[in-house]
Parts: sequence; structure tokens; C-alpha cells
Amino acid sequence: MKLQEFIEKIAEIEARAASLVAEATSTATLDAARHSLVGRKSGALTAMMKELPSLSPEERREAGAAVNRVKTTIEDALDTRAIDLSSREASSATADLTMPARRQWKGAKHPVTLVIEEIEDIFRELGFTVALGPEVETEWHNFGALNFPPDHPAMDMHDTLYLESGLLLRTHTSPVQIRTLQSYEPPIRILAPGNVYRRDFFDASHAPVFGQIEGLAIDEGVSFVDLKATLTQFANRFFGSTRTRFRPSYFPFTEPSAEMDVECTLCKGSGCPACKNTGWSEILGSGMVHPSVLDASGVDSERYTGWAFGMGPGRAAMQRYGVPDIRLLYDSDMRFLEQFA
Ligand SMILES: [Zn+2]
Repeated sequence: MKLQEFIEKIAEIEARAASLVAEATSTATLDAARHSLVGRKSGALTAMMKELPSLSPEERREAGAAVNRVKTTIEDALDTRAIDLSSREASSATADLTMPARRQWKGAKHPVTLVIEEIEDIFRELGFTVALGPEVETEWHNFGALNFPPDHPAMDMHDTLYLESGLLLRTHTSPVQIRTLQSYEPPIRILAPGNVYRRDFFDASHAPVFGQIEGLAIDEGVSFVDLKATLTQFANRFFGSTRTRFRPSYFPFTEPSAEMDVECTLCKGSGCPACKNTGWSEILGSGMVHPSVLDASGVDSERYTGWAFGMGPGRAAMQRYGVPDIRLLYDSDMRFLEQFA
């Protein structure tokens, strides 16, 4: 065989290989193609390699290089196609198109988070900004600056979680008021949401850690009228058009102090077990900021006055969504939480 003829023949095999590989639609037909091209016994290219000794030694080198190059090209093409076909066959073999689709998981915000965000939105429209503070506090920020007398029962070890260093876990969000008053000049209008800690048993209406949200407004000439107007506006927005009432109360850090009630949303004031037959639900504590609190924070109590309120978003969520047991808010039970998605 002449070199020219040899080169032409392997070029023919290369072209045939390309079309055989492209036309193979199953691993079986591809195996047959592999056999006819590079099979050890009857492969067309194998047969050509057996022809090499019939060439002259000079021609043999060139022909050998050419046949090796074509062999590599053909084997690469066969291997690539084999991987492609076998993965396609594997996936079509296991796909059951009649199987029902798996339900998609959809996350949702916790009901207490929803309530906090709604309260923040209402107060943001009224000019309040959100302020945050540490959950580990000094006794002074948590009690002293807030006008608690030194022997107040709340400071007892039985009610407050103290840390070894003399610090404590804040029992309310009110230390954020002190930290804000120390850092900023009035006018101040803040909303302080966050977790607080008490040594309470974990039962249907108590938890040792719970959310609180607090508001503070300080400026010149602020009076109880501003407190009442703002909180009534809030109650109307949050609970729908409902009646409110203020009852005298006592907190060390406000004077005068008042509890605000809204008409029971379940019985519309006629009395039911949820409102203990009073027709009213207690929603927040409020009052005019005590001058001692302003003085302790370095704010001139002769020039500035203000009001504050505090409420539990957990209780508000229970009321809003009719949740009978506070522990449901902590259980992370998907059957409960999914209802808020
Ligand atoms: Zn009621």
C-alpha cells in the first residue's frame, strides 16, 4: 500500500466515525460503532494499523503518527458520547412523571415579629425612630436611673436574673430610654423593641424571656394630652376603630402613670372569658416621664417634659390572633407557625 492511499483510507474512517458517533442514539448502537471502528479484532482502524508493516520505513513513521492521531480523536468522541447517552438513559429510567410534585417550603415571619413590625410602621409615620440597647445591663441603667428606690422588690434576686459580674439581664427595655437620653439632645421620639428577662415560671401566660416594645417622646412643652392623643391614635390603627380608656396606675419612672385598655376585640365590650367579663383588655402601661429620670440622664427637667409607654408584643399577638397559650409563641411548632405564612 502506498502512503497516499493509507492517509486517504484513515481520513475516510475518521469521517465515518464522526457520523456514526453523531447518529448513535443509544449506548447499544454506540458500542456497535466502537466495535466496527476501533474493535481489537474487526475494527476498521485496527485493520489499517496491521497494514503499517507493508509501508517503507520512512512512510511508516508518518502513517503511524496519522493513524494514532485519528485513533485518539475517534476514542475521545466515542467516550464523550457514551457519558452523554448513559446519563440520559439513567435519568429517563428513574423519572416517574406521574409522581405528585413535592410541596414547596415557604418561610414566614413569626406572629410576634409581625406585630412588632406593624407597631414600628405606625409609630414611624408619627415621627418615631427605632432605638436598640444591650440585653446585659448595669443595675444603674435598669433600676437606679429609672427612679427605682434601692429597696424596690423588682431588684430582688427572686425577680431579676443577675450575672456574676454584678451586671444583670435587663428586666425591661427602659434602659434604652436612659442610654438614648444620655446620647442625644431632645427632641427625642424613639421606639425600643427587644427581649427582656425575668425569673418567671414558664406557664400559659408567663415566660422567663419575652419581647417588649417601648416608646419615648421628649421635647419642650409635651403634656399628657400628647400621650393620650398619640396612644389613642395607635390603638385605633392597631386594633381597628375601638374605644380606649386610661386607668391611673403606678410605675417608678413615670408620674402620673396610666394603664391603657382597649375595648375587647372578641366580645366588642359585652364581656367574655378572654377579657374576664370586663369588656376591656389591658394593652399597655404609660405615663409622663418622671423628672428624676430626666435629671439622672443629664436632661434639664425644668426645660423638657415627655411621656413613655411600654407593651408586650407577645400579648398583643395573642390578642390579635386569638392565641390562648403564650407557650405556642415559643414552641416553634410548624403546625402553629404555618398559619401565619
Ligand atoms: Zn371580651
